[in-house]
Amino acid sequence: MDGTDTKGAPPVLILLGPPGAGKGTQARMLQERHGLVQLSTGDLLRAAVAAGTEAGNRARAVMEAGELVGDEIVLAILRDRLAEPDCATGVILDGVPRTTVQAEALDALLADSGQRVNAAVSLEVEDAAMIERISGRVTCGSCGEGYHDSFKPPAVPGTCDKCGATDMRRRADDTAATVAQRLQAYHAQTAPLIAYYDAAGALERVDAMGAIEEIATELTAVVTRATA
Ligand code: AMP
Repeated sequence: MDGTDTKGAPPVLILLGPPGAGKGTQARMLQERHGLVQLSTGDLLRAAVAAGTEAGNRARAVMEAGELVGDEIVLAILRDRLAEPDCATGVILDGVPRTTVQAEALDALLADSGQRVNAAVSLEVEDAAMIERISGRVTCGSCGEGYHDSFKPPAVPGTCDKCGATDMRRRADDTAATVAQRLQAYHAQTAPLIAYYDAAGALERVDAMGAIEEIATELTAVVTRATA
């Protein structure tokens, strides 16, 4: 990752952390405030499942079980999305990479276009808090804005503050049983990436137990440093 001249190349930031750490919420805020494009493989996979594509059909049962979708499917989706023109201003990767194979493939993919991972942020949270965070979350089915029953309820119950739609949705995999499996997958397969990015000199640790706005402020500082 080091030794390549990537000055002036579009920045690449990664949000690492267990399910419920706030990756999606923070990635959306960074997108709005810093013009980086949020790239969530979870969102892309859910769209593929809803559209009934071949990749979506292969991923559906794995996602419902709370396990990780195969690297080959995820990397194809990631490669296609990174090649879209809007990613030329820089990306914030939300939920990818999740395995060492994905991290190595991402490094190779970025090197091909003269880019690198500018920072990998580990959102640090306690497992015990995750269940509460995940079980309360809802998303606007129209614009994608995220809410939480206790931490961030919409001003008018059931109505999106941003776009006014009344199509609030809960994810099929946000159940207690699936969350336990997703946490296990995180610790077994994704947590090793913390050491991977530490060794590459790209790791930043952010305490993600606090308020959404406090964490966003810390992340803004990371983005500013990483893109300076
Ligand atoms: P997320 O929305 O990031 O919580 O992802 C929801 C589900 O999609 C995960 O539990 C996995 O089944 C699958 N998924 C999302 N991103 C990845 C990835 N990078 N690698 C493997 N599976 C993924």
